[in-house]
Amino acid sequence: MPFQPPKTEKCTTCTKSVYAAERMEAGGNIYHKMCFKCTCCKMPLKLNNYQQSEGNLYCKNDYQKEILAKNAQITT
Ligand SMILES: [Zn+2]
Ligand SMILES: [Zn+2]
Repeated sequence: MPFQPPKTEKCTTCTKSVYAAERMEAGGNIYHKMCFKCTCCKMPLKLNNYQQSEGNLYCKNDYQKEILAKNAQITT
């Protein structure tokens, strides 16, 4: 086995390096725990209550307001 240097993962939100102690993974993206929050209201999110759209994170309320409402406008 060749030696694999630990690759430094980048936070999807702030694009800075993420280390193991502060690492979160959601939807195939890496985040700092601190950065895993709603794009709109900055509410900290949990893995069981977040929504994701185009790389942005939303709480359920803002996801409905920002994403579902907009999609509804486009299709009508
Ligand atoms: Zn971050
Ligand atoms: Zn929100």
